[in-house]
Amino acid sequence: MAKILAIAEHKNGKLTDGTLELCKAAKAIASALGAEPAAAVLGKDDSVAKEVAKYIPLVFSVTNAALEKYTSDGYVQGVKAVVESQDVKGVLISHSYDGVDYAAKVAMAINAGIVSNCNKARIDGGAVIFTRNTYNGKIQEEKKVNTDKFVATFEKGAYDMEPAGSPGTVTAVSASIGAIRTTVKGIIETMAGAVDISQAKIIVSGGRGCKDADKYKEFIVSLAKKLGGEYGASRPVVDSGWTDAARQVGQSGKTVNPDLYIAVGISGAIQHVAGMKGAKCIVAINKDPEAPIFNIATYGIVGDLFEVIPAMLASL
Ligand SMILES: Cc1cc2nc3c(=O)[nH]c(=O)nc-3n(C[C@H](O)[C@H](O)[C@H](O)COP(=O)(O)OP(=O)(O)OC[C@H]3O[C@@H](n4cnc5c(N)ncnc54)[C@H](O)[C@@H]3O)c2cc1C
Repeated sequence: MAKILAIAEHKNGKLTDGTLELCKAAKAIASALGAEPAAAVLGKDDSVAKEVAKYIPLVFSVTNAALEKYTSDGYVQGVKAVVESQDVKGVLISHSYDGVDYAAKVAMAINAGIVSNCNKARIDGGAVIFTRNTYNGKIQEEKKVNTDKFVATFEKGAYDMEPAGSPGTVTAVSASIGAIRTTVKGIIETMAGAVDISQAKIIVSGGRGCKDADKYKEFIVSLAKKLGGEYGASRPVVDSGWTDAARQVGQSGKTVNPDLYIAVGISGAIQHVAGMKGAKCIVAINKDPEAPIFNIATYGIVGDLFEVIPAMLASL
């Protein structure tokens, strides 16, 4: 049976959340196509493959000392070996830094069309139709490949994470990994200890309307903490040093998909909206009734944040 193959991403033996989302995507696409969901795990041994088998019934494990650290050459050769050993219809890759680095090379190596940065997939007449943002999220486009096989990269949050279930099987696939043209000299964690707001269910974000660092802390941080969520920010807030870069939401910051996103004193520039419009419920607080953020808000409060937030805090 044809397979939809999710490529696992792991760092220091730990799976990324994106991998669990890809397992969910592989299951959904495979079920709609009458195919079989599977995953491929590349590494120095099969310990991560055994972990992935908790989330998907069929796992192909390629082990080689050369795969200990991620390189695009290693991953392309490893994925190609799995695709050539199986009847693979589609390859799913996280739209992460690594995924962006090697996905197109995999497509070239297996002669497949590629659609990158997808946020949805549906089946139409036996073909997979992918949806992705374009023009900074101003419009969405639907795409399909014209080849037998496809490669698709999925943005973070496109699918829910697959929960662990009963363990599937791990099958070894042999691959001789040839020339690797780059060497990983070291991994430098620039954001060590920084919060990952992309996982938060509730985010209260403050913008330039907060006026200064003290007010950002007094109003935005307090409301976020009271709601049991995380606090985020627009770019000017980060540029002004009111909070750290790990909390920036938007095109050049994090993409977030919380259940609740409260945008406070944020105008709704497309670069900000690109990072948060996937939130399930958006509440905008802005004193300007014409602010573009109201165009995408589920609920809007036209008012002065320095009056609205104390009222909210008092009622919580
Ligand atoms: C290449 C590029 C990448 C970018 N990436 C990002 C990104 O990742 N994230 C990002 O956020 N931006 C990004 N930007 C910047 C973006 O274009 C906007 O400049 C920015 O989002 C505006 O931030 P803001 O909404 O906080 O500020 P403003 O646009 O100045 O809006 C402030 C808002 O606060 C409201 N306000 C003021 N006082 C009050 C009050 N007392 N009560 C209630 N409301 C009040 C105002 O009505 C206004 O709507 C990027 C820009 C470029 C060119």
